[in-house]
Amino acid sequence: MIRAPLFMAPSSAAEGGSDKIRCELCPNNCDIKSGGFGACGVRGNKSGVGIIPFYGFISALAMDPIEKKPLYHFKPGSKILSLGFAGCNLHCPFCQNWHISQNIDICEQGRGKWMKPEEIISLALKENSPSIAYTYSEPLAHTEYVLDCMALAREHEIANVLVTNGCVKPKAASVILELTDAANVDLKCYDHDTYKKSLGGDLETVKEFIKLCYKMGVHLEVTTLVVPDLNDSKEELHAIADFIASISKDIPWHLTAYHPDYRWNAPPTDPDFLRSMAKEADKKLKYVHTGNIQFHKNSFSNTRERA
Ligand code: SF4
Ligand code: SF4
Repeated sequence: MIRAPLFMAPSSAAEGGSDKIRCELCPNNCDIKSGGFGACGVRGNKSGVGIIPFYGFISALAMDPIEKKPLYHFKPGSKILSLGFAGCNLHCPFCQNWHISQNIDICEQGRGKWMKPEEIISLALKENSPSIAYTYSEPLAHTEYVLDCMALAREHEIANVLVTNGCVKPKAASVILELTDAANVDLKCYDHDTYKKSLGGDLETVKEFIKLCYKMGVHLEVTTLVVPDLNDSKEELHAIADFIASISKDIPWHLTAYHPDYRWNAPPTDPDFLRSMAKEADKKLKYVHTGNIQFHKNSFSNTRERA
């Protein structure tokens, strides 16, 4: 399907001009040469024209419990039709979905399917799904497709749920959040250098995205995967809790355990450390939840309110 890309335009002469295309969706601001793709592998340039050839490619499709997103305070107990894509504007070395986020070639390997937005909505209606999640890899690299699905979903009173790294610029963010009912945003660490050099993202952009979600009235939950040797200092995790609390103490924070994957070999997150951090953060935020660890009698895995 042909769909004109958004947030892409010819680069100015000062930026190397001629037949280059600049993508301004995320802070990477890729200047893409003819025949090439941006850092996400999703948005390209064909003979001086911006292209999104993977519009409609779905790498994963499942009915999930909404708590798996994770969202613990939005339509609890419901199922949600969940769509995954391919490619990502970040390159986290511990990515737990790297086989789709860092492998755009799957689009050519028949390991997914092509679906029009109308087909997604029909499926959601058939499955009686009250919501659709745009999730698994980074949905916002596929903003045009997500927006087209979201607009149709709204017509059918189906809620739109975004599970995202939040690393898109404010102009794009405001367009997308206008159609978003709930979001779980990753805040992966609280160090500018780590965001930039290790993950390929931008901390300030993600913080602005989180603030905008809240300001626009989108139901918001935040997730931090606690990765040893990356973001697991108490100081850094406290800084994240403080940032969330500065917006609202009512925003749920999910502290989730990592396991070795992709290019990160550190041992899994210590469950006791995760619980102790949750206990400390619980003094700052109303809803702190642990994830990816076994149930425990002092569990933070449920939605009970702690004063
Ligand atoms: S969305 Fe992709 S092409 Fe656009 S700026 Fe970001 S990484 Fe580059
Ligand atoms: S932002 Fe998410 S999907 Fe993208 S590389 Fe990082 S962990 Fe993977």
